[in-house]
Amino acid sequence: MDFTLSPEQEMLRKTCAEFAAKELAPHAARWDRDGTFPRDAVRQLGEMGLMGVFVPEEDGGSGLDVLSYVVAMEEISRGCASTGVIMSVNNSLYCDPLMKFATPAQKERFLKPFAQGKKLGSFALSESNNGSDAGAARTTARKDGKGWVLNGAKAWITNGLEADATIVFTQADAALKHKGITAFVVDMNAPGVTRGKHEDKLGIRASSTTLIHFDDCKVGPENLLGEVGQGFKIAMMTLDGGRIGIAGQALGIARAAFEAARDYAKVRTAFGEPIAKLQAIQFKLADMATELDAARLLTWRAAFLKDQGQKYTAEAAMAKLMASEASTRIAHQAIQVLGGNGYVKDFPVERHYRDARITEIYEGTSEIQRLVIAGNVIKSQ
Ligand SMILES: Cc1cc2nc3c(=O)[nH]c(=O)nc-3n(C[C@H](O)[C@H](O)[C@H](O)COP(=O)(O)OP(=O)(O)OC[C@H]3O[C@@H](n4cnc5c(N)ncnc54)[C@H](O)[C@@H]3O)c2cc1C
Repeated sequence: MDFTLSPEQEMLRKTCAEFAAKELAPHAARWDRDGTFPRDAVRQLGEMGLMGVFVPEEDGGSGLDVLSYVVAMEEISRGCASTGVIMSVNNSLYCDPLMKFATPAQKERFLKPFAQGKKLGSFALSESNNGSDAGAARTTARKDGKGWVLNGAKAWITNGLEADATIVFTQADAALKHKGITAFVVDMNAPGVTRGKHEDKLGIRASSTTLIHFDDCKVGPENLLGEVGQGFKIAMMTLDGGRIGIAGQALGIARAAFEAARDYAKVRTAFGEPIAKLQAIQFKLADMATELDAARLLTWRAAFLKDQGQKYTAEAAMAKLMASEASTRIAHQAIQVLGGNGYVKDFPVERHYRDARITEIYEGTSEIQRLVIAGNVIKSQ
């Protein structure tokens, strides 16, 4: 068993860390305060090959492995969690299903420019009335000649305001329930597609989240992703991989919070000595560091299994569950270490706390991760 990164992965980690320190971290508080989409940083991510990390080079990506992707996600999210989720949605939720299910023509149009970072993708599964219960989608696809007509609205769509295309999951035959779910890849400028308002969020405030409406949106066979009725499988497979990326995002947020607390504890004095000398503070830092490492090991294992082409559904759920809940706990304790300074915007840990919280909700809540894990451990011998 080898826990060290390859020289290429280590070089990628270093490049991402330097980029995050220079181009993300200094601006993250302002972007968060103003809800500013980090357009220039996202463009630079594209130039660095980070918008299609594991997409094959012939399809516009960097052709790296999933472990590299996770390492990059941690470093980018350590600098700015919002930039992390923008990157993660384009890589895991948009490019990944296209890599697996798109036709060559669809790859040319809908994958290549997105993996190159010239265009931005989104993933529209959730609706206002059903998030966890994705099979209950009410957005419909009605057959119309050779094509379909889409009607309905998708909720909470990350990158929705800036995206050039979206993968949308619709119900093509309600009688079939989740076996009727059908996926399409749709140009966001197509007639009948409109975007809603910018959701005013607790955290990851520099990423956009919005409704996408489909009103008599006509799509052709060239927009169908996979086969009719295959959409639920595409969504679930995509989320398995996406959860590894969100685990990477949670690691980055947790590490930023931990490092801020550790550095502060060394310089803040109370009762005549640095608070880092107090056992109460040392134990907090010890628990934070241990949880961070445990979460990273689970995340790297899930990435490794995906790279090996092995089953990784339960392992990805474990990684996301552990990393997201650890991230919230670590950021919570970081605020405690900073005392009153932890509670104000002059220091970054209150932002890390707000940013961490979403990782327990999107791409499957912690409760859904536990259901996935339980289903797997109960059926195993
Ligand atoms: C900032 C943000 C960005 C997002 N980005 C996207 C995106 O890009 N694309 C997209 O499609 N969606 C996105 N989502 C939606 C997100 O995936 C859903 O919010 C999430 O899956 C939960 O669904 P819900 O909000 O409908 O909650 P519900 O499903 O209504 O759940 C409410 C509560 O009930 C619990 N619960 C539900 N079912 C069960 C069960 N069977 N067992 C135990 N507990 C259960 C949940 O865990 C939760 O605690 C985003 C959401 C947010 C807030």
